[in-house]
Amino acid sequence: MGVVVVGSANMDVVTRVPRIPGPGETLLALSFARGGGGKGANQAVAAARAGGAQTVFVGALGRDADGDALREGLADAGVDTGVISVSDAPTGTALISVAEDGENAIVVVGGANADFTELSGEQRERVGQADVLLAQLEIAPEVVLAAAQARSEGATFVLNAAPSAPLSEQMWAEVDVLVVNEHEAADLAESLGAPDRDLDAAVDRLAERVSALVVTLGGKGCLVLQDRRRTQVPAVRVTPVDTTGAGDTFVGVLGARLALGDDLVEAARWGSVAAALAVQRPGAQDGVPHADEVRAAR
Ligand code: ATP
Repeated sequence: MGVVVVGSANMDVVTRVPRIPGPGETLLALSFARGGGGKGANQAVAAARAGGAQTVFVGALGRDADGDALREGLADAGVDTGVISVSDAPTGTALISVAEDGENAIVVVGGANADFTELSGEQRERVGQADVLLAQLEIAPEVVLAAAQARSEGATFVLNAAPSAPLSEQMWAEVDVLVVNEHEAADLAESLGAPDRDLDAAVDRLAERVSALVVTLGGKGCLVLQDRRRTQVPAVRVTPVDTTGAGDTFVGVLGARLALGDDLVEAARWGSVAAALAVQRPGAQDGVPHADEVRAAR
């Protein structure tokens, strides 16, 4: 049936500031913007905009104006919003300050995402129909594990282990494709007892635990490991404007392409072309390109 994305949704409230304020300091912002965010919702938008793969978002929103706006944004992108939980907690919010030198500071209010502690019957049912189940770690790991266990036998579970957190043995046993950036790779390898943060050693350590691994390397592209084969997929050379959501665009498109039948290397190629377009635009969901743009850029 396509991709089911289980994860977080946030309203991103972004201020551009001359510098990150220190303790007790008050600053005037240079600009202010609101937009859809949260790794789960971002990846759902990216998967839907990749075209061709039906995309369902499973997550939680508050009973408030931000929740309505996020639901509308997802639906506009072509995401099926029919089984999103409605929470008494406020919609998740990320308060993001970006300084002129590119430094940022982020405060996340978990809200409805933190209140999302179990899957409903209809959410479980939709997960059971997925070809690809895609999840991240911005919601309770118990929900991610329950979704992985509710997928059908032939379905592929892609875990984007972000933000960094050690995985339980039960979770390791479920993961089909692990996607991490360099820092998350080193953190996860450390949690498995790696003696240092060397990337090659981390990759080897992680590859022992999963059948397929993708390590994203920012402007250097990504590394795909499957069946003992390592493939380096180069990034597309561009001048980045805002790298927010690059990783989410990459992962969402990768999930959609896997659901359409691509192999992992081909799916990663699509993901990197889409992410290179996303870094040239501001915003998380706002920066996610459409399928025709990605096709034209390939
Ligand atoms: P995020 O900044 O969204 O948290 P991330 O750390 O999860 O991102 P990255 O490894 O930075 O993930 O980027 C994911 C993918 O996006 C890369 O593998 C690459 O294909 C693409 N990408 C990221 N930065 C650039 C860039 N400067 N130029 C071209 N492509 C990029």
